[in-house]
Amino acid sequence: LVPRLQPFTSTIFAEMTALATRTGAVNLGQGFPDTDGPAEMLATAQRAIADGINQYPPGPGRPELRQAIAEHRRRYGTEYDPDSQVLVTVGATEAIAASLLALVEPGDEVLLIEPYYDSYAASVALAGATRKVVSLVEDGDRFALDVDALRAAVTPRTKALLINSPHNPSGTVFTREELSEVAKLCQEHDLIAITDEVYEHLIFDGREHVTLSALPGMYERTLAISSSGKTFNSTGWKIGWVCGPAELVAAVRAAKQFLTFVGGAPFQPAVAYALRNEMAWVDQLRDDLQRKRDRLSAGLSDAGFGVRQAAGTYFVCADVRPLGFADGAELCRQLPERIGVAGVPVQVFTDHPEQWQHLVRFAFCKRDDVIDEAIARLRKLG
Ligand code: PMP
Ligand code: GLN
Repeated sequence: LVPRLQPFTSTIFAEMTALATRTGAVNLGQGFPDTDGPAEMLATAQRAIADGINQYPPGPGRPELRQAIAEHRRRYGTEYDPDSQVLVTVGATEAIAASLLALVEPGDEVLLIEPYYDSYAASVALAGATRKVVSLVEDGDRFALDVDALRAAVTPRTKALLINSPHNPSGTVFTREELSEVAKLCQEHDLIAITDEVYEHLIFDGREHVTLSALPGMYERTLAISSSGKTFNSTGWKIGWVCGPAELVAAVRAAKQFLTFVGGAPFQPAVAYALRNEMAWVDQLRDDLQRKRDRLSAGLSDAGFGVRQAAGTYFVCADVRPLGFADGAELCRQLPERIGVAGVPVQVFTDHPEQWQHLVRFAFCKRDDVIDEAIARLRKLG
């Protein structure tokens, strides 16, 4: 393996899921739901297979899906031409990787906010670029964006900023004020913004999803990325997309066509159907997840953890120090064997593990009985 990829040999999700499986632990580590998406969406995919939608779809994605994505983005007040400004990808993961491969070169720098989703650092490395990492700041039970630190991290080599809101793993939803500051920074320094919005609909307590792409001056410099995995409980389908100005999307497409070319033919009409017809189902999913967040947060708190606010996503971060532990990674390696629960240490999503080692991420996108069983086991830690 080449040196630049050596830090990325195995992912924390694979490691923790393998450990959970081996020990029979309740897996609140890897974030995937344990129930299916809307029934008619599933039936649409089955019909697509029966109807012979099984060969390569068009390079940019099937037209009905690109149309549905463009319509979906109108909720944020932005218009994208389905033919030149929307690209279907193999999950958000490929959209992020292809965006970086298309837009940054060796020697260029990409701003990341830590903790960051693990594929970001690997994709920056695949592109041969360098990451500049700025930490979120703990502010009460929330994590805030330090825009001054972000500004201080910009150099003449900085080409792009990759930002995720709602934010995995912290559960933070960045505010309009925070993102407006980021927008200013991107314009001051002529940066391309790559926005990971895969949790755009999983936002609680009436908060709003703000997309950088809709803020003044940002449309022309933003690649907005999302996928169907989180919105429609279909993480295994890997239907993602990127929307942006035509030249940027054309660049991403140039990279994407040599990564996978295309993917997921029969799932594309199903996701198009869901984007058009199942947003009420998504509202229900969000309300269910909010209740699950409350259930798990209360359970963790009763078990003695210091619980942080999950304003969005399906993750809650818990401080292990009140229970007398210092290192979340060490605890996560022991938890499955010791009490039969798996979580993910937040420090693995960072370049500064010592600063983040008190936090463990638990997923609440699970059936209530699964959450309750996990809580019962976690109480044994106290
Ligand atoms: N970004 C974030 C923040 C995620 O949590 C995930 C995975 N759940 C992804 C991207 C990957 O999305 P996809 O499965 O669509 O590739
Ligand atoms: N995105 C999910 C998480 O953060 C899992 C993704 C993966 O397994 N690569 O847990």
